[in-house]
Amino acid sequence: MEHLVDNFGRTVNYVRISVTDRCDFRCVYCMAEEMEFVPRAQLLTLEELGTIARAFIELGVGKIRITGGEPLVRRNVIKLFHDIGTLPGLRELVLTTNGSQLPHLAPELRAAGVRRINISLDSLDRERFRKITRVGDLNVVLAGIDAALSAGFERVKLNSVILKNRNHDEVTGLVGFAVERGIDISFIEEMPLGVIGDHDRAEAYYSSDQIRADLEQTCSLVPTTENTGGPSRYFRIPGTATRVGFISPHSHNFCESCNRVRLTCEGRLLLCLGQEHSVDLRRVLRAHPGELEPLKQAIRDSMHIKPKGHEFNLSAKPLIFRHMNVTGG
Ligand code: SAM
Ligand code: SF4
Repeated sequence: MEHLVDNFGRTVNYVRISVTDRCDFRCVYCMAEEMEFVPRAQLLTLEELGTIARAFIELGVGKIRITGGEPLVRRNVIKLFHDIGTLPGLRELVLTTNGSQLPHLAPELRAAGVRRINISLDSLDRERFRKITRVGDLNVVLAGIDAALSAGFERVKLNSVILKNRNHDEVTGLVGFAVERGIDISFIEEMPLGVIGDHDRAEAYYSSDQIRADLEQTCSLVPTTENTGGPSRYFRIPGTATRVGFISPHSHNFCESCNRVRLTCEGRLLLCLGQEHSVDLRRVLRAHPGELEPLKQAIRDSMHIKPKGHEFNLSAKPLIFRHMNVTGG
C-alpha cells in the first residue's frame, strides 16, 4: 500500500474535508458577524468530494473527518457520508459538528458509517452560549448531544474553545457534563485565523496549562499516552469513562507529529492550518474528468510543499486571513 510522506518524514494518513464554509452559527472566535461565503457554483460537488476522498484512501489515508463550516447544513450531505463510508481501505470516517442538526440527522449518520463524532460546546449557560455563537440555541445542541448518544456512535467527544472572561470559569462544569454522559472532552486554545472583529485574541488567551490547573482543583487528571490520531494530549479522570484532551497550538506546539492535510470546500488542498501553502485540486479534477491518477499525482507532489509548522502569534496582526470555517477546523 502506498503512503504519503512529506519532506520532514511525517506520514500523512488523515484528511479533514470541509464540505461547506456556510454555517447556521457565527461563533465569535471563528467568524466575523458579516461573512461572505463561497458562491455555490464554486463548491466541489458531492461527487467530486467523493472522488478526492477515494484518491486519498488509495494513497494510504485511513482517516477522513468531515467538517466545515457546519457540514450538516450542506444539502444531501448524508449521501457523501454513505459514499465515503463504503470506500474500501477507509479505517475511520468521523465528523465535527456544532450539533444543531443532530436531533434529526444522528441516526442517519450512524447508519452511513460515521463511527466517532465531535460536537462543539463552549458553554452550558443559555445566554452565554448565544453570545459566543451569536445565534445558536443551547437547548437544540443539548438535544443533538442526546441524539448522538442514543444513535450509538463508538465515541462522542465535546470540543470547547476556551476564552478568558467569556467561558474560562466553565471548564469544571463542562467536564462534569462530559463525565455524567461518559464522553470525552477536549479544550482548544483559540487560533488566530482570519479577522473576527469581536475580541482581541491575545487578551482572550487562556492556556491549556491554566485550564488543567483549574480542573485539578476538583479532580485528578492522570496523563495517558492515548492518542486518537489528532493533536489532543489526553488525561484520564480516575473512576470515570471520560478523557480530557488539550489542543494547545500556542503552549504545546504539535506540528512535529502533524499527520494531516485539509481540503476546503472549493477544492484547495491546504498543507498546514497556519500557512497558505496549497494546491488547487478542483482544477486538476476538472481538467481530467473521471481520471484518478492525475489527482493522486497532484496529492503526492503536494507533500513537497507541506511546511514544517505554523507560526501563530496572537499579539501580531493575523498572518492568515482565511477564517476557521473556510479552513475546515
Ligand atoms: N461547525 C462545526 C463545529 O463547530 O464543530 C465544524 C467546524 S468548526 C470550524 C471546527 C472546530 O473548530 C470547532 O470545534 C470550533 O470550536 C473550532 N474553532 C473554530 N474557530 C477556531 C479558532 N479560531 N481557534 C480554535 N478553534 C476554533
Ligand atoms: Fe460555525 Fe463551527 Fe465556526 Fe461556530 S465554529 S461558526 S459552529 S463553523
